[in-house]
Parts: sequence; structure tokens; C-alpha cells
Amino acid sequence: MPEIHVKTNRRMELIDITDMINSIIAKSEVGDGIALIFTKHTTVALIVNENEAGLISDIEASLKRLIPKLDYKHDRIDNNADSHLRSILLQSSIVLPIKSSHLDLGTWQRVILIELDGPRERTVTIKLLSENKGI
Ligand code: ZN
Repeated sequence: MPEIHVKTNRRMELIDITDMINSIIAKSEVGDGIALIFTKHTTVALIVNENEAGLISDIEASLKRLIPKLDYKHDRIDNNADSHLRSILLQSSIVLPIKSSHLDLGTWQRVILIELDGPRERTVTIKLLSENKGI
């Protein structure tokens, strides 16, 4: 299965991975179908939203406000409970339509990886299904 590798640079960071996914689709034989975009990490999330600098900053601030850094039980072994708790508000996979060999997204929609416990090397798995060939 194709994979995307993303190196993150901060503890929380939003990274637009739309072009990387479209590049994988373009190299495949899928013209029309669906893409499953999945990450096996427990402190990473995937969203579809607008990649606008102010909004990116607002998303980071909102996640920190919703799940503040407190004294959690998991911190005794791993010191990243806030990262796990932020990830359960989000999702680890998304399914999107493919049309004419690229993601069929709205004008302002982008696929964004949310790093919640960086900096790290992260992997996103892409599974493509063709409407015609069952690839
Ligand atoms: Zn942990």
C-alpha cells in the first residue's frame, strides 16, 4: 500500500498533505473511485478543512483550550496524555472521493495532518479503490 512520510517539527503542527495524496493517485491507475487515508499513530489526526494561516492557528489554540495540559494518569508513563486526548476528538482515517485521478475536494478543502506529539516521523497509509477495476 502506498505511504506518505511526514517529518514534523513542532509538538503541535498542521501539515497540508493534499498534494502528496494527489501525487500517489496520479501514479495509480485509479481514475474514479475512493481513497482511504489512514494513520496508525495514536497521537496524529487527519482532517479536511481550509489551509488558511489564521484558521490553522485557531485550530491549534482550540485543541489546547479543549484539552489543556493537566496532570493526567498516562503522563506517569509517557508524558503525552494531552496528545492522546486531543486525538480522540478527531479521527485517524478519512475516506474521500476520487474524480479524474485526483481527490474530488471542495474549493477550500484540503487534507491536513495534525501532529499532536511532535516532532516525529509520521506515516500515512493510502488505500485506493477504483470504481471500474477494483484496484
Ligand atoms: Zn502516550
